[in-house]
Amino acid sequence: MSAITTYLEENKPRQLEELIEWLRMPSISTLSEHKADMLAAAEWLGARMREAGLEHVEVIPTEGNPLVYVDWLHAGADKPTVLVYGHYDVQPVDPLDEWETPPFEPDIRNENIYARGAADDKGQVYIHVKAVEALLQSEGALPVNVKFIVEGEEEAGSGALTAFVPANRDKLAANVCLISDSHILAPDQPSILYGLRGMWKGELTVTGPATDLHSGSYGGAIHNANQALAELLAALHDADGHITVPGFYDNVRPLSDEERAALAKVPYGEKELLEESGAPAAWGEPEYTIVERTGARPTLEINGMWGGFTGEGFKTVIPSKAHAKISCRLVPDQDPQRIGRLIEAYLQELAPPTITVALESTQGARPFIAPLDLPEMKAAAKAYAQVFGNEPVYTREGGSIPIVTVFQQALGAPVILMGFGLPDDRLHAPNEKFHIPNFYKGIQTSIAFMEEL
Ligand SMILES: [Zn+2]
Repeated sequence: MSAITTYLEENKPRQLEELIEWLRMPSISTLSEHKADMLAAAEWLGARMREAGLEHVEVIPTEGNPLVYVDWLHAGADKPTVLVYGHYDVQPVDPLDEWETPPFEPDIRNENIYARGAADDKGQVYIHVKAVEALLQSEGALPVNVKFIVEGEEEAGSGALTAFVPANRDKLAANVCLISDSHILAPDQPSILYGLRGMWKGELTVTGPATDLHSGSYGGAIHNANQALAELLAALHDADGHITVPGFYDNVRPLSDEERAALAKVPYGEKELLEESGAPAAWGEPEYTIVERTGARPTLEINGMWGGFTGEGFKTVIPSKAHAKISCRLVPDQDPQRIGRLIEAYLQELAPPTITVALESTQGARPFIAPLDLPEMKAAAKAYAQVFGNEPVYTREGGSIPIVTVFQQALGAPVILMGFGLPDDRLHAPNEKFHIPNFYKGIQTSIAFMEEL
């Protein structure tokens, strides 16, 4: 056995024990009562990174939670630099009574470790720390230069890091950005996530009469704001599920034959969709597969609608105002701000003279896509295949990781999303878990990736 294989084998229990220690820290970024836990979790990570042999450990204060930066830059200027990103903050835990074991008392059952943050994202961040440690402690050097930037606000909007990245381009400069905050398809089926949808959100208010009115006195002569809202919202899709907003699809990059062939290998279709969702039938653009619809096509969703009287009993009212929360999942090269303007213009155009409409857009996130033929992508594929014994399939995901495009734009480096979670890890939900064999295989894959690079 090589020195590194021996090292990894001998240190397995300790690697897991350390992760368990970190998982005990309730680093919930959205609750201010956990402020001290955030700093403790950041400092704990910095200390383990220092022990691993990484250098220049900094726990950087921000207006929000601290960032952890660290590097090892002795591979030589002719070797690539990898920037590893992750987050040490976790989601809140409620409903607490649905947890089989307490969220911050990690429990091992059936090869899984159950704890809040196990897969999202502490377990996946720690993979790379332990990979670097194994190389440095057994071989004394890394095959590439490495930097880490780990934030404590991913679940709260990444405010500090979004400002830090463009302001610290030199410090973070890298040839490739490596992120493990996603999942593979199955324990023996690695997958590479090469596309993420972006996001636009807005709140629509429809206003009819100046105040709520009695339907006995005014019904029949005044346009009901709830009805007008329903009419507007219904006009945003056609019968096949296409979005009717003029210009909405203008910048959507068509799916190439190569991509459609790659996506067709993902073992997921209508049967799985209906089983998972409990819906009676699938919906959406008939010319696209389920995998394409949920990952590679843009959407417009009505997330909530309210107005008028919804309490007990009846109140025969014509409401003055009606509201809807609307959001879009976007794909390359759609721009969230432009999409907001198009939706607003269309709603204004649709609005009859009987009402007025106002649309308030909130934050957006750009979509992400990485070319399948990038050398760094190929290195990731080789590393997965070597460790998992199976070639990875390529997937696109419906969700958004806004920080990905921040890195891509500020650093000009490709982003590789090398996940080690599983689809049933219950991120953000009770009984979050991380598959322990994936933790160890992840360490080996991270090492193989650095060597391939
Ligand atoms: Zn995450």
